[in-house]
Amino acid sequence: MVSKLSTTCHRSDIVGLKYVYPVISRRMGGLSIGINFNTNNACNWRCIYCQVPGLTLGAAPEIDLKLLEDELRFFLKDALEGDFYERFEVDGDKRVIKDIAIAGNGEPTSLKEFPEAVALIGKVATEMGVFPQSRYVLITNGSLVHQAKVQAGIKVLASYGGEVWFKLDSATVEGRALINNTAQSCKASVNNLKLSTRCCRTKLQTCLVDYDNQGLSILEQSAYLDLLAEIKVSGCQLQGILLYSMARLSLQPEASKLKPLSFDVLNAFASEIRLLGFDVSVSI
Ligand code: SF4
Repeated sequence: MVSKLSTTCHRSDIVGLKYVYPVISRRMGGLSIGINFNTNNACNWRCIYCQVPGLTLGAAPEIDLKLLEDELRFFLKDALEGDFYERFEVDGDKRVIKDIAIAGNGEPTSLKEFPEAVALIGKVATEMGVFPQSRYVLITNGSLVHQAKVQAGIKVLASYGGEVWFKLDSATVEGRALINNTAQSCKASVNNLKLSTRCCRTKLQTCLVDYDNQGLSILEQSAYLDLLAEIKVSGCQLQGILLYSMARLSLQPEASKLKPLSFDVLNAFASEIRLLGFDVSVSI
């Protein structure tokens, strides 16, 4: 069945592949090719805005690297030379591969063969002429960057000119427990952020939501700004900050208590962050 891809359509099984899926990206303005290592929908965090269906606690399963390579070659050929855009009625101005993003139904760096998989994707995309024109992005919660294998994978990403989008939604203990359901401290997260910036270009990605009609509290704003100021002073080379809110319904039990924050609220907060000297982009 032919389906129209749109910026709200993120069905990972839309082209019937196990690891590779297309998204017309709001943020990118074109085709983003997603790579999903977490075919078991397992993550080590449980963010209350998470849109992964049947999210479970755990790590990515063992990967079939041959199948990943076959799928990526097949899909890139279809997008570059086939009738992919026609079949899925992609708007003319979006018929360009903006990026290949490792962004799965869970935390991708939990994959045991993470460095090998990053290298394979880089090799195939380079051979097929997609890199270096298109970006290579790792979207991660950053919680495992202290692991040597994750740093090895991030260095491989850097060798292909890639970048890491590192999640930091809250700088308070309460906020991290509420939003991300993680016990990992903010300090540990920032240490991992620093490791990431030493291995590869790294941006912060921050999802801000309205929980239980509380809006974006002054406490959360202050803690986040204070943390960014500390990061700046430490000499950590952050490439920028991506602020966004929920674009689609959460599939978590807290869904009924969640609303996206308005563009105005995000923009006002972005202005505060820019005063600290960071490059900030906003999308909802
Ligand atoms: S880190 Fe990502 S995949 Fe994991 S729970 Fe949060 S939003 Fe979902």
